[in-house]
Amino acid sequence: MSTSPTATIARPGVLPWTLGDRVVVALNDGHLVASLGLVQGVPAGEVECLQAAGYRSVEAPRITVNAFLILGGGAPVLVDAGMGAGGPGTLGRLPEALRACGVAPDEIGTVLVTHLHSDHIGGLVGADGAIAYPNAEVVIPEAEAAYWLADGAEARAPEAAKAGFRRAKSLVAAYGDRIRRAGEGEVLPGVEAILAPGHTPGHTAYRIQSGTQSLLIWGDVVHLPAIQFARPEAGVSFDVDGATAAATRKRILDRAAAERSLVAGMHLDFPALGYVRRDGAGFAWVPEQWSAAS
Ligand SMILES: [Zn+2]
Repeated sequence: MSTSPTATIARPGVLPWTLGDRVVVALNDGHLVASLGLVQGVPAGEVECLQAAGYRSVEAPRITVNAFLILGGGAPVLVDAGMGAGGPGTLGRLPEALRACGVAPDEIGTVLVTHLHSDHIGGLVGADGAIAYPNAEVVIPEAEAAYWLADGAEARAPEAAKAGFRRAKSLVAAYGDRIRRAGEGEVLPGVEAILAPGHTPGHTAYRIQSGTQSLLIWGDVVHLPAIQFARPEAGVSFDVDGATAAATRKRILDRAAAERSLVAGMHLDFPALGYVRRDGAGFAWVPEQWSAAS
């Protein structure tokens, strides 16, 4: 009996992109299998049509999960850390992707966190509960910390949300004084934090500037690309404040389209870098062109 070739070929989700004198590496952590029932603000029939028109599954939609590695200009920087070992088997691939880059976990100097949801911070600790990036400073948006980590925050949260608060608190606690809470503005040389609230109260994008080039890593502005570019008012049920999330999404998409600026997202289809253009009343995604030569 022959073995399936896919079973024998390692497939780390890694794609390096050149950005000025830095390299930004898209790291794929895997995907979540979701349901279109989580989409809010647009009629279900239209949601299904958009998803099908985007050649994406209506019955078992996948939400891609990415993180990004920034090389050059100091110690390697990770932007978000993936789901880690505690999630479904379709996730948790980031350590393998990082290994394929030749970067050891103890070489990571900084982890920039977009927000404190599990698919972004679960990978901060290993399966054994020990911190995964022992020499890293972990930068958490001030407004995220205020929302998730405040005294009594878990007690005030609805029952279904309590586990998320507990998890955020324990992951942050594991890093002790390696945590740095940061507001908007420059968090590292050439890296600016920009508040993009709604999905969570302190949800934050990071703009990487290198030479004349820049890249906006926008976190969770879009979860379902086939739906939310065309209809940016469409939110997801795990948005903490759906109306604010939709307003933030429209503003960021509008600006990216006007400026023709390069963007990347944690839930954009891998390898996750590209542009936004206006398309009728909504927007459309334009993937960046990748080349092995640069
Ligand atoms: Zn997310």
